[in-house]
Parts: sequence; structure tokens; C-alpha cells
Amino acid sequence: MRVIERAVELSATLDEQRSAGRTVGFVPTMGALHDGHASLIERAAVECDTVAVSIFVNPLQFVPGEDLAEYPRDLGADLVVAEKAGAAVVFAPTATEMFPDASRTTVHVAGLGDVLEGASRPGHFDGVATAVTKLLALAGRSRSYFGEKDFQQLVVVGRLVADLSLPVEVVACPTVRGSDGVALSSRNRYLSVDEREAAAVLHRALRAGAACVRAGERDPGEVVDLVSAVVEAEPLVTLDYAAVVDPATLATPRTLAGELRLVLGARVGATRLIDNVAVEVPR
Ligand code: AMP
Repeated sequence: MRVIERAVELSATLDEQRSAGRTVGFVPTMGALHDGHASLIERAAVECDTVAVSIFVNPLQFVPGEDLAEYPRDLGADLVVAEKAGAAVVFAPTATEMFPDASRTTVHVAGLGDVLEGASRPGHFDGVATAVTKLLALAGRSRSYFGEKDFQQLVVVGRLVADLSLPVEVVACPTVRGSDGVALSSRNRYLSVDEREAAAVLHRALRAGAACVRAGERDPGEVVDLVSAVVEAEPLVTLDYAAVVDPATLATPRTLAGELRLVLGARVGATRLIDNVAVEVPR
């Protein structure tokens, strides 16, 4: 496995692979790799000839007061996970390599980046969109793998790829969970034992919301009230938002119909976690 720090070298390496007739899979991450990340890399390795993983803790997507300095970083351990999952290339740039002082461009995905998680973390999705656009530009023609765990991010990335005609096919991968239902996340390592136990309420609440839609509830307000009540019964967890949204527009429909996403953001102790599930109303 080749580890690359320079942006131009990543582009040149992947261009060489394509010139040799190989397809490229690309998996952008912020490192602290776990089985959720590994599932993306493994799928890319099944579907593509050469898999590149980027490991970059993107400072632009942390809003003031967030955990940029504390965010877990362990490149040595990440290289082991990436190689075992099938990566041939790891791109691990410094912040100045990604964003030299001369950088002046921000990618803003209007609407989609301003709601839900974006409303609680103003500027977060501009940071995500700007870094992902640059990473995808460097990777070039590829299939790029993103987790449904970060559902709003997936929607934002799908939109920017379409709007900017990037030569990238975005592949959505299912959320990998622990046996307690908690979505794997690099931030789970901040949780105490009690908080980890409490965090299981998030998936439980989403499942309760989905079950109530499947049982016939068509009023999004009622579903959100139920999800909120389940979360609020857990004293260590504070709900930030819960919503039932159209998976393409992230807007809440007046009446629930077709494919939907139940999404939420919450604080477990001091740790912010997000989760979501799909639910479909049969037509
Ligand atoms: P991150 O390192 O948190 O920025 O995540 C990098 C990629 O891995 C993103 O596309 C995430 O959505 C995806 N990812 C993170 N956690 C999971 C998970 N539990 N299951 C599936 N994909 C995940």
C-alpha cells in the first residue's frame, strides 16, 4: 500500500491507474477508522480495481467550539485498517497541503447544507462540501463511497457532484452498527460506559418512529413527537433535532408518503451524535 501526502501525487498515481485500464474507487474519511469505514473500503475493493482512501481531519468542517483539537488521530492504526480492507493507496495530506494560504474558494450547497445538522452547526456543510469537492477533483474519475450514517452529508455530496458535473459516481453504503444498535462513529470513543449505554436510545427512538409510520401514522409531527419522547426518557441524552424528511430534498412533507428518512442529532453527555433510518410508506 502506498501512502501519499502530496495532492499532485495522488492525482498522478490515480491517473496512472486509469491509464493502465484500472477503475478507481475512492473513500474519503477523517481517519480513526472503524468497521463502518472498513465496510466502505471493502465494498470499493469489490467494485473497483484500485482503491484510494483519504485520511484528513478537515478543519473547515469543525465549527467554533467543536472537537477539532481532540478529534482522534492515529495514522499508524488507520493504515493497518485501510490495507486490510483492501486499499492500495492512502492519501494523508496536511491541512496546508489541502488548503494552502492562497485558497479562497468555498463550496456552498444552498438549502441542503443549511437545515438539520447545518442549522445546529452553521458553516459545517460548507467545510464538508469544500473539502470533498477538492478531494474528488484530485481523485478524478472514480466511484466514491459515502456512508448513509451521515445522511445529510451524502445528500449534499450527491448534489455538488451533480451540480459541478464531477466525473464521480457517488455510492451510498449502509450504516454499520454495534450489537447495541449504536451507529459506529469515531466520536463514540468519547463516551463513558454509561453514555454508551444511553446512546442506544437514538436508534431505538428512530426504530420506534419508523414502526409508527409503518403502522399508518402520516403526520410527521406525531412521528417526531414519538421519537422525541423516546429520546427524552433517557436522562443522559439531549435531543437537538428530530425530523422526517424527503431523502432528496431534506424537506419535511406535509403528509408522509413514499420514501422517507427519519434523522436526528443529539448530545450524549458532551458528545454530539447523529443517526438516521429509512422508512417507506407503501403507495
Ligand atoms: P468520517 O471519517 O466520520 O468523516 O466518515 C468517513 C465516511 O465513512 C463517511 O462517508 C461516513 O458516512 C462513513 N461512515 C462513518 N461511520 C459509518 C458507519 N457506522 N457505517 C457506515 N459508514 C460510516
